[in-house]
Parts: sequence; C-alpha cells; structure tokens
Amino acid sequence: MPETVFEVDQSKSMRDQAVPGHNRWHPDIPLAAMVRPGSEFRVDCREWTDSQLGNNDSANDVRDVDLSHAHMLSGPIGVEGAEPGDLLVVDILDLGPCQAPQEFGDAPGQGWGYTGIFAKENGGGFLTDTFPDAAKAIWDFHGQVATSRHLPGVRYTGITHPGLFGTAPSAELLERWNRRERALIARDPDRVPPLALPPLPESTLAGQATGSVAEAIARDGARTVPARENGGNHDIKNFTRGSRVYYPVHVKDAKLSGGDLHFSQGDGEITFCGAIEMGGFIDFGVDLIKGGMEAYGVTTNPIFMPGNVEPRYSEFLTFIGISVDEDDTNEYLDATLAYRRACLNAVEYLKKFGYTGEQAYLLLGSAPIEGRVSGVVDIPNACCSLYLPTAIFDFDIRPSASGPARADRGMSAVTS
Ligand code: ZN
Repeated sequence: MPETVFEVDQSKSMRDQAVPGHNRWHPDIPLAAMVRPGSEFRVDCREWTDSQLGNNDSANDVRDVDLSHAHMLSGPIGVEGAEPGDLLVVDILDLGPCQAPQEFGDAPGQGWGYTGIFAKENGGGFLTDTFPDAAKAIWDFHGQVATSRHLPGVRYTGITHPGLFGTAPSAELLERWNRRERALIARDPDRVPPLALPPLPESTLAGQATGSVAEAIARDGARTVPARENGGNHDIKNFTRGSRVYYPVHVKDAKLSGGDLHFSQGDGEITFCGAIEMGGFIDFGVDLIKGGMEAYGVTTNPIFMPGNVEPRYSEFLTFIGISVDEDDTNEYLDATLAYRRACLNAVEYLKKFGYTGEQAYLLLGSAPIEGRVSGVVDIPNACCSLYLPTAIFDFDIRPSASGPARADRGMSAVTS
C-alpha cells in the first residue's frame, strides 16, 4: 500500500479530521500535502455529503440533505514543480470502498453505499418532472458485486471510479466561472431546481485556511457540482482503475483535490445522486508534462485514457429516444431531451416487470448502463440510446411472446 498523504477517519466529519478537506474550488486553499512527480500515494475520501445519508429504509435523509456541505473533497495535494501551462498526469492505480479487508460501519463506503433520487425542491435530477419526490436504494457490497434490498432481482459488478477530481482554478479562471454562471442564473433566477449554484458562504469548508483567506474562499469559492476547465465533477464512469488523466494546471503546485467515489454508475448519473455513493480510498501516481497544455492544445478541459478494468457485459437491451417531448412538441436536435426520452422509455419497460418507476430510475442511474449520442444531424430529431445489460437481472428481461415476467419486486426507500 502506498503512503497515505490524506487520511480520513470515517467516524468523523470531514470538518473534524486532523487535516480537513474542502468543499469549494479556490486557488488559495492551503496545501494539505506535497508529493513529487513520479510518486505513488493514497488519498482517503469521505462520501460526498459528509455522510448525511444512512443505511436505513427511509428516504427522509435524501429529502432533507443539506447540499451546501457538498462535495467533501480531499486535498489539495501539491505536485512539486507544477506550473500553469503544464499537464498533470494522474494515474488511477486503485480505488475502492473503505479499506480492504472490507470495513463495516455507519458511513457510506463501510460495506454499503446508496443511490438517491433528489426531491425537485432540493437538488432535482434528470427526470425530476416525472419523479419529484425523494427516494433511495441501499446497496450492499460483496467484493466487486452490489445487491440491494430495495431492488430485488438485480445483481451487478460495479464500475468503480471517482466522480470528482481536479486541479485548482487560477484567480482569473475562478472569476470567469462566477461571471458566466451568474449570467446563466440571471436568465431565470427563481427556477426550481436552479440553473446553477452561485458561491455560498454558508457551510463552506476551506481546508486549513483561516482569517481573511478563509473569508475570501467562502465568498468567492466555486461550488463543486459541475465539471469545469479544471476537471471537477465529471461523473464519467470510465475513470476506472488503470485510467490516466491529463489535467490542465492553472496554479503553482497544481493542487489536486477530489472525492465523490462511486462503487458504480450508469452513463449520465441520471438521478443526480445516481451513482452508488461511497467513501473509500484512491491510489494515484502523478507526473508532469511541462508546457503540455499548449503543446497538445489541451487548454480547456482535461483528456483521459480509460483503464482496462471494467465489468464485462456483452448483451444489451437498448432503448432509443428522440428530441420530441412528452407533449409531442418537436425540438431541434436536442440531445438532452432525446436521452431523457430514452431513459423514460426504459423506465416504462421495467415497470412491466413489477418495478416501481423509482426503482427503475435508481437502477438506470447506478448500474453500468451505456448512454450514447447516436445521431445529431438528422433534422429535426437528435437520437440518443441507452444500453441496459441484460445479465444484471436474475430473470429474462428480453421481449418474447410469453410476455414480461411480472412479479412483486418490492419498492425503494421512500419518504414518510
Ligand atoms: Zn457522486
């Protein structure tokens, strides 16, 4: 096991760790550790909400979650010699739930994880108009396999990855983010859920910063929900073991931070908290390509090479969606709408087997489904597709003359 440069005691909040992490992006968050190019090291992570959700059968904790604490990030880790304009090479050597041999406890990652549907008034999600209420599925880990008492009939190998890692923004880049996201919010300031999240001093955790530096981080620090030029919350399920990521460096020492580990996730992470969320560990190797941003034209977003370790599913039932909404209104090449319709088509299909809509939604967010932008040129309809692995079910979900194998399949955790 490589040296742990950022340690987490899962019985404590991220705020009470010996070296606390942070939950905003800002160039002045002090370094938590320093590593050399060529070194390998371990980073412990808290689950992204700092363990506000429990291993229970109620979704009240999802409904009431305080999102101003999110995401709880480990870091920043400085890399010696890194300067703006370099590419930071990050190898994901290994990752998993809290330690091996498996640790059991109350924090997500200690033998279990969860998938949540957020309430429309508190976070929302991709299908929030269809599913406005909070719901939850608890998953039990069996090595690489997940099962859920809230989703009987399903068992799958997780595609384990970090949801969120990135480098610190420069002061100039942070200012651009805040300017453009405020302009977006101004288009419809009262929208529920909001169009974007502006800086929020409340609940800010600024690492080891104090005084006026901590105040500036609380005032201007960018929220961690979206992916941006520094990487951030990509939620790309293919950042598996063995992946190599090339992050743009925007500040001295690069300042790598992250967390939001996922035991598994489907493309799109559609319930917003659609992955199987957990705390755990991640092992990295780092290196630098000096001047790499300009040399390779990687000046806006990171690039990466997926690892070779993924669950092997070879048969899929595929659902198709087009850019026509539920009221039969035709939108022009709207791939977001087309993917939403593909998801809704899959939900309707799974309901025929006895699942509730919420169970189907939770499953599509968390299982290793493939989502593809299939066509964006055939006017007026964009075409997106969702590939559902058939082998994750312990019954046959393929269409046949005998009809769907309908059964009582229980229900997800709901609110009271
Ligand atoms: Zn997540």
